[in-house]
Amino acid sequence: MRRVHEAWPGVGTQLSSRLARLDVHRPADLLLHLPLRYEDETRLTPIAHVREGGAVQIEGEVVSCEVVLRPRRQLHARIRDASGVLLARWLNFYPSLQKLLVPGARVRLFGEARSGLFGGEMVHPRVRRVVEGEPLPLSLTPVYPTTAGLAQTTLRKLIGRELEGFDATELLPRDVLVRQGLPGFAQALRQLHLPEPGMAPEGFERRQHPAWRRICFEELLVQQISLRRAYLARRAKAAVSLELQGTLTRALLDALPFELTGAQQRACREISEDLSTPHPMQRLLQGDVGSGKTIVAALAMLQTAENGLQAALMAPTEILAEQHHRKLEAWFSPLGLDVIWLSGSLRKRVRADAIARLKDGDALLAVGTHALIEDPVALPRLGLAIVDEQHRFGVRQRLALREKAAGGLNPHLLMMSATPIPRTLAMTHYADLDVSVLDELPPGRLPVRTRLAAESRREEVIGRVRHVCDAGRQVYWVCPLIEESETLQLKTAEETYGMLVAALPGLRIGLVHGRLKAAQKALVMSEFAEGRLDVLVATTVIEVGVDVPNATLMVIEHAERFGLAQLHQLRGRVGRGAAESTCILLYAQPLSPTARARLKVIYENADGFVIAREDLKIRGPGEFVGARQSGVPLLRYADLEADATLIEPARALAQRLLAESPEHALRLVERWLGGREGLLRA
Ligand code: ADP
Ligand code: MG
Repeated sequence: MRRVHEAWPGVGTQLSSRLARLDVHRPADLLLHLPLRYEDETRLTPIAHVREGGAVQIEGEVVSCEVVLRPRRQLHARIRDASGVLLARWLNFYPSLQKLLVPGARVRLFGEARSGLFGGEMVHPRVRRVVEGEPLPLSLTPVYPTTAGLAQTTLRKLIGRELEGFDATELLPRDVLVRQGLPGFAQALRQLHLPEPGMAPEGFERRQHPAWRRICFEELLVQQISLRRAYLARRAKAAVSLELQGTLTRALLDALPFELTGAQQRACREISEDLSTPHPMQRLLQGDVGSGKTIVAALAMLQTAENGLQAALMAPTEILAEQHHRKLEAWFSPLGLDVIWLSGSLRKRVRADAIARLKDGDALLAVGTHALIEDPVALPRLGLAIVDEQHRFGVRQRLALREKAAGGLNPHLLMMSATPIPRTLAMTHYADLDVSVLDELPPGRLPVRTRLAAESRREEVIGRVRHVCDAGRQVYWVCPLIEESETLQLKTAEETYGMLVAALPGLRIGLVHGRLKAAQKALVMSEFAEGRLDVLVATTVIEVGVDVPNATLMVIEHAERFGLAQLHQLRGRVGRGAAESTCILLYAQPLSPTARARLKVIYENADGFVIAREDLKIRGPGEFVGARQSGVPLLRYADLEADATLIEPARALAQRLLAESPEHALRLVERWLGGREGLLRA
């Protein structure tokens, strides 16, 4: 988002568009454009003391300067000081550099030192002509993140100018600063942009310097304020209150062949209470694979229907939506309720009929894929929108479902996810949502045993497949993930299928992959679900939602290529019945250190939350939050791991400021986000 600035003296359109690439849209944004690191130009290192590694500064006289053609064209300059001679080399250079390096000239060089063929050398150092005795800078030189065509010196100048006359009002209460041991805003900014004389670069390392802590705290605070404001804005909107009547819901509970787990009961209660308040619910139902989210969603749908309103459940894939439809139909039709099915592969007439029944408000319950949010669909009496595997949808799609309601109606929104959100993330990027957690699996489930096997043991693994199938069980064989090419992925899946058909005569083997037509895919899946296939060879299309309790073995090929969350999700496809299940992770050698770390985590842990926390450590929050795409401000400086202890105080302060001095809260948001608070709506 680029905005126009009338008044930014000295900054032309070209410069301002480059600054915009750094997310600097107005002068005040320069203040929060903080150094990446620092260079120490306050000291000179005698040439004889120059060692490999680390950046140093030397000063000396140019002895010689020449263009060398071998091994490739480059500029060589020899610099001498009282202690020795050093070779400086440039592979790219302009004539201006040669002019600077005339023999006899006194220069300062700053750069990484290496030991070359003939003693110490520097490649591509920065050069400056100096006069003898020229004073050294007293403080560290900040190095800013920058972009093509924008020099450090330009940034330093712009930022320096901004630091001279900025609004230094302290917006945080004194007592909080004292308790957290944090400096004031103005002081922190000055320390980071213009470090004090004598300060060593290590002083700012790992952002644990009080000045950095202050900035990170304020950033976390602003995020908490934004999220809190979004939350309060939503609570101020009106929605239809859907009281629990207990007619349909009771009937379903009585008919279920199982008791709800404690966690399911708690989630149902929380959702039921939300639905009955006259404000739109925005809740995330989080539960590991197999924790039983579907029945919780079903009960919420029934509570909606009890009040004569519509409820719609949207799932990201045809397979998953289809499975929900089958399950809901089995639960709801004995209660005399129809479940409308909508997907892209429906025939025209059937589809038109489904749409008409929803538009009339004659049908109350719907399940489907993205087809639900397509144009002709209207859900005029929509009271509850449910989005399964919410992270698979973009924010617009989630909103689109809710917007299918007639004008003036604000439906309740329930999102479901099997990707557990680590606590620190839940407290930050997801803090505008209410969360219910299913932290208990239905009873009688045995943990899935996980085995690691090098690819060389494939024969043995195939023998295992035969054994399992002979015992009347079923097997998933997951093909390697080939991120670069879908075509290659398909080819591999077909080859794997061929290999297994040849190796396992007499067994019924099916193949399912992303390129199949939806109807074909559904056919293969239902054959497997009904036990008419022994082995299902699949690409990652089975990742979400498939529920076949008789499948007790999963083999994942090239497990080292998968992410942690994905492996955990895949593994959750087995262990859904009462029999003990196994997941074999086949890997190719040699393993990279990260791949080894990932496989170790998945081998040692069954708990989705623990795995997610490890995943957050390995990958950082970007990937978790990226999928959310919600306009929740991302953190530029604070680190959820390193600054975890600041999150709770930031949250407490956000609430306090909004209550006691909302104008300060707003000024903080303005300082950090300008007009970019984003659409914090889902
Ligand atoms: P997920 O949370 O992964 O979506 P599902 O809703 O598909 O899980 O439930 C997994 C399986 O467990 C289904 O077969 C479901 O019927 C069954 N189930 C759900 N709740 C219970 C329970 N309380 N007791 C026994 N089985 C249950
Ligand atoms: Mg599910």
